[in-house]
Amino acid sequence: MQTTDTITRSEPSRRRALNFSAGPGALPEAVLEEVREELPVYKNIGTSVLEISHRSPTYTEIAESARTRFRNLLGLGDEWHILFLQGGASLQFYQVPLNFLPDNGSADYLITGSWSKKALKEAKMVGAANVAATSEEDEFTYIPKRGEWKLGTDASYLHFTSNNTIYGTQFHETPNVDVPLVCDASSDFMSRPIDVARYGLIYAGAQKNIGPAGVTVVLVKDDFLGKRRGSLPTLLDYGTHTAKLFHTPPVFAVYMVEKVLKWLEGLGGIGAIEDLNNRKARLLYERIDRTGFYTGTAKADSRSKMNVTFRLPNETLDAAFIKAAADRGLIALKGYRTVGGIRASIYNACPLEAVEALVELMDDFEKENG
Ligand SMILES: *Cc1c(COP(=O)(O)O)cnc(C)c1O
Repeated sequence: MQTTDTITRSEPSRRRALNFSAGPGALPEAVLEEVREELPVYKNIGTSVLEISHRSPTYTEIAESARTRFRNLLGLGDEWHILFLQGGASLQFYQVPLNFLPDNGSADYLITGSWSKKALKEAKMVGAANVAATSEEDEFTYIPKRGEWKLGTDASYLHFTSNNTIYGTQFHETPNVDVPLVCDASSDFMSRPIDVARYGLIYAGAQKNIGPAGVTVVLVKDDFLGKRRGSLPTLLDYGTHTAKLFHTPPVFAVYMVEKVLKWLEGLGGIGAIEDLNNRKARLLYERIDRTGFYTGTAKADSRSKMNVTFRLPNETLDAAFIKAAADRGLIALKGYRTVGGIRASIYNACPLEAVEALVELMDDFEKENG
């Protein structure tokens, strides 16, 4: 992974920070370099990609290349459609039940944080959504165990949030149920392999792990798609988007996603990034657990490898830590407003060196304040 500051090395004040933002998150510097290089004139087309028709061969090629890379990286067969939609993951909260929650049926929801609660709220506007399990009573510090789930008898899918961006928890096993899985994978998409056979639909806002804001990647399997309801509003019907390019897609965001996927392939693919993500998470959690000064906020068996949440002994020290971090060029470490503490988002594009710098800061800060 690149570590040198090639973009702005001549001007210290414009040096790139070590960015732990939860979203939109850091992008690989190599990708940004490439984008800058080809921004005014893309290849030999005489314009930038910002200025071309979404029906041009150039965009068609970019979108197809992105799809091919998704297929290769995740091992998706022809039964999978890959869509580039808008409205964020948040629109998927409504679009999923609108398409797949039948009038006389239901859907199961696992409630493991704010995002799944929002998904549930939208599903309830459409039909019967059953809370199969929740960890809200314990401030979403854990993922409920499979044995405790109360699944409905007529669910058409089970919805879950694979990684809880705010609370720093993550599913470490694919939910084992008899119905197709629908997953909000926004904050851990492409960070580890997915057992796609178990899923009907997977969606992710690009801005956490695979690109800039503006595009939501939706993977939907053909047989699941076939079960959707009829007479849906055109733009909210997944079938509209699998049939053809219905309207203007977020061209530039798709172009950048394609580049991030190429970068990921260059690193060695999903297996390689998973190894790296495991190393980064282990390093940070080991440092948190080494002494009593830092306390992880998620239960150990539910800890996220993407968003690492922890606290110092008090809020004054939390604030001082964030300040000390900024002084060293480590930014966006403040925990979500309702949770407080520290949150280090260590997505795919966060290099190992950034985590090492954070651990070094934790050591030094504890020495001075512990
Ligand atoms: C950020 C996030 C969302 C919201 O995504 P938008 O694209 O802003 O709608 C939803 N779910 C999860 C898990 C997220 O991390």
